[in-house]
Amino acid sequence: MPATLIAEHVASVALPDPAVQVEDLSNGERAVALYASDMPARYRVSRGDLALLTFWIVQGAARLGLDELYRSAAYASGYRRLRAAGWATPEQDAAHACRFSSASRLERAERLAAVVTYRVAMTPEARERGRRTLVERACDCAGTGWAAFDMGDGTDALQACPGHNPNGHAVLGAGVTA
Ligand SMILES: [Zn+2]
Repeated sequence: MPATLIAEHVASVALPDPAVQVEDLSNGERAVALYASDMPARYRVSRGDLALLTFWIVQGAARLGLDELYRSAAYASGYRRLRAAGWATPEQDAAHACRFSSASRLERAERLAAVVTYRVAMTPEARERGRRTLVERACDCAGTGWAAFDMGDGTDALQACPGHNPNGHAVLGAGVTA
């Protein structure tokens, strides 16, 4: 059972908060925790480093506190989707850069979190939370989850906001007319 293996691996290291286990964190939360940890800037993963990575994840989670960890991971996820879809506003770019001042460290943390997630299971609660997105600052959808785009022929088409409404399930907000 992975939980037992990890407990054995890190038992020799002083844990900042034994209540937090990697299994309880989503992949995005693992990445943000690594970002906030003592992981050296130029760290490169080697075989057998799983215990070290899980230690840093637990350390980063304890350092941020779970509420902030959950929130930051949801913001990172919302922003990643907005940017990938070309929706990110300058205000959102600035908010993300303020939250994660080193883009290269975040990228490294995300890559290493994926290495951990490949090996360490995740609780259903963590998996569910990993689908959450949050958005900070001005959004093209004005927080309604939908934005109208001029199709160039005099008609508008509503599109789901990748950050506020990644699954397209949000009820049409009052600020948007169809
Ligand atoms: Zn939005």
